[in-house]
Amino acid sequence: MIRSILFPTVYLLCVMVITTIGDTERRRIMDDVERAAKPFNVNWLNAVFILGTPPLAVIGGVWHGYTYGLTWVEALIFFVWYFACGLSITVGYHRLFSHRSHEARWPLRLSYALFGAGAFQNSILEWSSDHRRHHKDTDLEADPYNATRGFWWSHFLWIIMDEHVGKPDYTNVRDLQKDWVVRFQHRFIFTLGFLFGMVAPAAIGFAIGGVGTAIGGFVWGGLIRTVFVHHGTFLINSAAHVWGKQPYSTKNTSKDSYWLAFFTFGEGFHNFHHAFQADYRNGYRWWHWDPSKWWIRFWSLFNLNKRLKRTPKWSIENAKMKTSFENTARVVAPTIGEQRLAAFCKRAEICREAVRKAHLAIDNRRVELAQATAEKRDQMHQRLEQARATLAIVQADFHQLVAEMTASTTTVVSV
Ligand SMILES: [Zn+2]
Ligand SMILES: [Zn+2]
Repeated sequence: MIRSILFPTVYLLCVMVITTIGDTERRRIMDDVERAAKPFNVNWLNAVFILGTPPLAVIGGVWHGYTYGLTWVEALIFFVWYFACGLSITVGYHRLFSHRSHEARWPLRLSYALFGAGAFQNSILEWSSDHRRHHKDTDLEADPYNATRGFWWSHFLWIIMDEHVGKPDYTNVRDLQKDWVVRFQHRFIFTLGFLFGMVAPAAIGFAIGGVGTAIGGFVWGGLIRTVFVHHGTFLINSAAHVWGKQPYSTKNTSKDSYWLAFFTFGEGFHNFHHAFQADYRNGYRWWHWDPSKWWIRFWSLFNLNKRLKRTPKWSIENAKMKTSFENTARVVAPTIGEQRLAAFCKRAEICREAVRKAHLAIDNRRVELAQATAEKRDQMHQRLEQARATLAIVQADFHQLVAEMTASTTTVVSV
């Protein structure tokens, strides 16, 4: 009796998933039709700046090198500004303001606002509004840097070809408008950008080594650094939606890429980020290269950051199991039949729930161990080991299930 209710229910759930994919595909086709009829303007200011800075940076770098020579001061200014402006975007604009993954006191918020302006990626308000739309409607028409429109569109053409003509819509960033730092930066964005992105590195250079070093500071800390930070951010919108793995979700084009994480202060773990956008980490394991996460954690030790949001381990593992199951199911579904697929669905669901419970049990045992008296420590330690062993068993069950699913197609084919 239970089986006769259970199988159709699970089957219906699977059909619902497939139908959702169908809907998304239909929406994309409608988007293409709408887009064809939509006018766009070339934003000349953005076009000249984004396309003009790379050749200017190369010419400036070569000319300055020949005329004044390159010293450690230019290198130092470049790296300090690269980190200051880069982290202001990844930690400030992205993880703090756009996603509210933690809370930061005003000195940090202000420094993100000043050096973020120097990154020349518009104001916090504008950037966060675009970014929240990107997460809400990833790969769809409302996504400003919709990666399905091609690499170059999501890389920077969306900034140059202004489709959203008219008054900007900040209804999705009303929470940010309450912050005086955000309002102040939005009001003086161009002045602040010019001062902190170009004038300040030149002024530091002048203070250290006179006119030649001032020009070096401007070229290396201003122009060349701007190009590096620009394209680091742009690569997350383009490359991180094209190349890499999808361990946590296949609902959109976001990918995890270690090499991209290396060049983008940890932002390359983009599939994880799309799956768990409120998490202050993008690389969630301690060894994942994610300087933005380390920066946030570091300042939390001094109480300048607080309420750091972390996704529970069970939730991350559940997402990985779900993705792994769906990938396998997609391959085997045409050959194994509805009833077997429904049975596999049910077993996967049971495994995921067991993993969740096992992780929670480990967390509880850890708390017990931390609070245990000296006499009870051994006993609590044993209980923790038991909980870990249970998790290992459930994980093995799931691997067995995936192996059985894969083997089931070969069995069917050979029969
Ligand atoms: Zn994001
Ligand atoms: Zn994305």
